[in-house]
Amino acid sequence: MEFSNCIICDSKESFNIIEQVNDRFSKKDIYLIQECSCGMIMLNPRKTEEKIFKHYNVNNYHPNNRSSSMFGCLYKFAQRLNNEFKLKIIKKYFKTGKALDFGGGDGQFNAFLTKHNWLVDTYEPYIKSRLFRGKVINDLKKIEKNKYDLITMFHSIEHIHKIDETLKKIKSALKKKCILIIAIPNHNAYERFFLKEKWVAYDAPRHLYHFNEKTIIMLLKKYGFQLIEKKPLLLDTFYNVIMSSQFNFKSVLKSTLLLIKSIFAIISNNDRSSSLIFTFRKYD
Ligand SMILES: [Zn+2]
Repeated sequence: MEFSNCIICDSKESFNIIEQVNDRFSKKDIYLIQECSCGMIMLNPRKTEEKIFKHYNVNNYHPNNRSSSMFGCLYKFAQRLNNEFKLKIIKKYFKTGKALDFGGGDGQFNAFLTKHNWLVDTYEPYIKSRLFRGKVINDLKKIEKNKYDLITMFHSIEHIHKIDETLKKIKSALKKKCILIIAIPNHNAYERFFLKEKWVAYDAPRHLYHFNEKTIIMLLKKYGFQLIEKKPLLLDTFYNVIMSSQFNFKSVLKSTLLLIKSIFAIISNNDRSSSLIFTFRKYD
């Protein structure tokens, strides 16, 4: 285990424990969620980069692996709707161009964007996929400078140990005034206040950071990015509430009620969505 300084203010002494959580796949270990006085919330201490791999290698971690189940089919359908929504955001800035999907996972977004006439490279050091088109990069040092019109980080930034090195690299890889789109779980999500330590997006020890709108903007500003747009990813609320329930009758009833309440909360205030998607522009 290692203790990480705050990724925004670099402090190591101003953390307070706000939650104790289990790994949802193994109830043995307890992890601490800590909040820095600047507002940044992090898993601290955390597994080292070398030790974290085995925590990804568990049954049912990747929802795509369950494509034969009803849940898997619904997940794929929601993923398609989410892709269309993301493409709509991208098209406001560029009709086509050169993109880097950072933390591309199984490559499904790469394949989708390629189908829409983009040239897409992928940074993905851990997963191999037949869906990757373009170049697959597995070493930060191999990302070329000044190359991309668009970089996407969809639910990947919260997994990255070397955040400083990564964000500097991302900045240098983007062309002048180009676009970085980031999707993250939102620590201000309505359902989290009810689910508490059972909130699936805590996902210890894999999720290292728990952002909200304020902290993601603070972090990206530090690396020369300016916010231009924020939107909720509505379908993630369904996923989070369903995955946080224990799949018994009582909890399904409770989850359905929580889902309905969450939807009303999000309609009145976008900031309560389970996930948010932010569009940033590089300053210069
Ligand atoms: Zn801090």
